[in-house]
Amino acid sequence: MSSVQLTNITKKFKDVTAVEDLNLTINEGEFFTFLGPSGCGKTTTLRMIAGFYYPTAGTITFNDRDMTKVPPEKRNTGMVFQNYALFPHMSVFENVAFGLKVRKLNKSDIKRKVMDVLEKVRLEQYYDRQVSQLSGGQQQRVALARALVIEPDILLLDEPLSNLDARLRDQMRTEILRLQRDFGITTIYVTHDQVEALTMSDRIAVFNMGKCQQVGTPLDIYNNPVNDFVAQFIGETNLFPVEPEITDEQIKVYKLKDSNFKIHAKHKKSEISDDKHSGLYMSIRPEAVRLKNEKMEGNNVVEGVIEIVQFTGASVHFFVRVDKSITVRITRLNKGPHTYFNEGDKVFVQLPEEHIRIVPKA
Ligand code: ADP
Ligand code: MG
Repeated sequence: MSSVQLTNITKKFKDVTAVEDLNLTINEGEFFTFLGPSGCGKTTTLRMIAGFYYPTAGTITFNDRDMTKVPPEKRNTGMVFQNYALFPHMSVFENVAFGLKVRKLNKSDIKRKVMDVLEKVRLEQYYDRQVSQLSGGQQQRVALARALVIEPDILLLDEPLSNLDARLRDQMRTEILRLQRDFGITTIYVTHDQVEALTMSDRIAVFNMGKCQQVGTPLDIYNNPVNDFVAQFIGETNLFPVEPEITDEQIKVYKLKDSNFKIHAKHKKSEISDDKHSGLYMSIRPEAVRLKNEKMEGNNVVEGVIEIVQFTGASVHFFVRVDKSITVRITRLNKGPHTYFNEGDKVFVQLPEEHIRIVPKA
């Protein structure tokens, strides 16, 4: 097991800056995720950790050992590529044994290690099957076995589930977590899928345009996004541009842009400094918004009309028009008939102060 430290890492490809001044520490045994949209520098960062690319600037250390310019075969990392990169005409056994043969282990050790890891990924009956004859999910598990068999200090996974259908993806999420816990291995997982990131990770680094926006636990990132990008990329949210109206030590009143709706929001003064940013947003999660057919007590209440109702089974989404240009999204657990409203119903919406986050533009 290893910890990984990235210090002031920048990677340029000619005039494209793929990664800019990245600082991250990944702890021993941690399940750490790089999350962000396509092209934000996730794969480039992972490849620098594996040694396939060297950074343009900055240093990479494993357990305080400088690895910045160490070639990949001397790093003891196991990598699973997005397209698996298996040898299709070789057997499962030969694919998994490949790394051990390169390391010149003897035949009986190879056999024991390969069969052990195939058992861990539940493929032991398939050891002599040709890889091209396996399903996508099985190929995925061969790729995992091949990465794990060399007993790497760090497991690197680049969008490993993106080629699988939804149900299998869900199943493999649990499978990968089980393996990671079982091996206790430091794991870096790359994905553009926020649900994968939230459900699997100990901590997440959110990337956008080559820069790390925020690092934290799933709960932390979901509840306390640092800017509008993180707020809208992770989970569903109601994100509205706001302008400060009244300023006080603790409580501020903001006006939603292009409307007369004024909201009270609390925040620590240190979190936002009004003179530094070019724009402010309020963010509130759909499950935190209150919805009733009569006026509620307290601040941040507004009248509206239900425009759309979406029933998903476990929950119901309501889209409530509260102003010419503002639609509030509200999610409620399905707790029976009293949960529901109908399209066209007149309702009241409350945005509770304690759930509002005022965030700057990224
Ligand atoms: P992600 O994995 O988050 O989708 P990448 O790390 O693959 O993003 O890419 C980040 C940026 O660097 C993109 O603009 C991409 O086009 C560019 N890039 C990545 N690899 C190369 C390369 N080998 N040569 C030139 N540009 C690259
Ligand atoms: Mg990628």
